[in-house]
Amino acid sequence: MIKFLDLQKVNLQHQQEIETRLLKTFRSGWYLFGEEVKEFEQNLSEYIGCQHAIGVANGLDALRLIFKAYREMGIMKPGDEVIVPANTYIASILAVTDNNLIPVLVEPDTDTYNIDIHKIEEKITAKTKAILIVHLYGQAIFSEKLKQLAKKHNLKIIEDNAQAIGAEWNGIKTGNLGDAAGFSFYPGKNLGALGDAGAVTVNDNELAKTIRVIANYGSEQKYVNKYQGLNSRIDEVQAAILNVKLPHLDNENARRREIAKYYIENITNPNITLPKPPKDELAHVWHVFVIRCTQREKLQQFLTDNNIQTLIHYPIPPHKQEAYKEWNNLSFPLTEQIHNEVLSLPISPVLTDEETQKVVKVINQFK
Ligand SMILES: *Cc1c(COP(=O)(O)O)cnc(C)c1O
Repeated sequence: MIKFLDLQKVNLQHQQEIETRLLKTFRSGWYLFGEEVKEFEQNLSEYIGCQHAIGVANGLDALRLIFKAYREMGIMKPGDEVIVPANTYIASILAVTDNNLIPVLVEPDTDTYNIDIHKIEEKITAKTKAILIVHLYGQAIFSEKLKQLAKKHNLKIIEDNAQAIGAEWNGIKTGNLGDAAGFSFYPGKNLGALGDAGAVTVNDNELAKTIRVIANYGSEQKYVNKYQGLNSRIDEVQAAILNVKLPHLDNENARRREIAKYYIENITNPNITLPKPPKDELAHVWHVFVIRCTQREKLQQFLTDNNIQTLIHYPIPPHKQEAYKEWNNLSFPLTEQIHNEVLSLPISPVLTDEETQKVVKVINQFK
């Protein structure tokens, strides 16, 4: 069977190094706020090119912490609005509502599946405080126009970079394009830990400090609490894994690009809508390779019957979720169409040429 993502194989690429590091961490007797975390934060901030990287418990917390810090700093208050893409993964939106801020949904551009920058300004009100961009499926979304828009309306740009670590816009890494960014190292992400982990990257010193303190119980000095904080820390074990894997990320993303290119050049079935590759190939790290098909269920079954595993990112849009009942009657036709038609093909640094060829062959046979 061709797995959607063979995580065992992904991590076994680095078996020796990982086992050595883990053993060292195990034997050290020190499991939080240690050398591995310090080193990882340094490595990540250098890789992204930003001033600060703060390791946290997961990607959702990374985003929650950014908004929570802005609230503590008096930059945002309950009831303020945040522009978000309507077709994002639920975590982006949970981070906003968790802070009593109001997500204002904006339709995507169906060429990129990223927020349609031209549809943002009409949604800006006196209460709008931020635009949360999501580099969905691994593709960077940014432009001068977006930057100008944020400047004109005095809005923060926050990046959900859970899917796009390593992607670039005009030579700048995602995670260093806006005011703050959240990363996820969930095992299936392009840079994956062996459990939950995440990070925030920022350049602003005060914001960085506030986030760090909130993530540690709101405490700067032990048993003295400045904020009603969270317990959201990355641990030494996960940081150790990430220290091993980060230096290999660019190579792994390059392999993903190779596979994506092969799919795009060789899938010729007229029933399939392929993703449009960006002009700058470095703008995409192909976290997932998403095609569209009006007979999505039939196609998925056909692939399953041919031993090819696929996933759907995502089957239900946020505004149709029970968790957000109040939005269930809203209409976002493009978002809804995308959720009905998308299918993600196998892509990963360990997918072989033979497997890639088989996927293409089977898809081209689908009628
Ligand atoms: C994975 C993901 C998150 C959340 O990350 P976790 O580490 O699972 O909490 C947030 N946003 C997007 C777009 C994601 O894909």
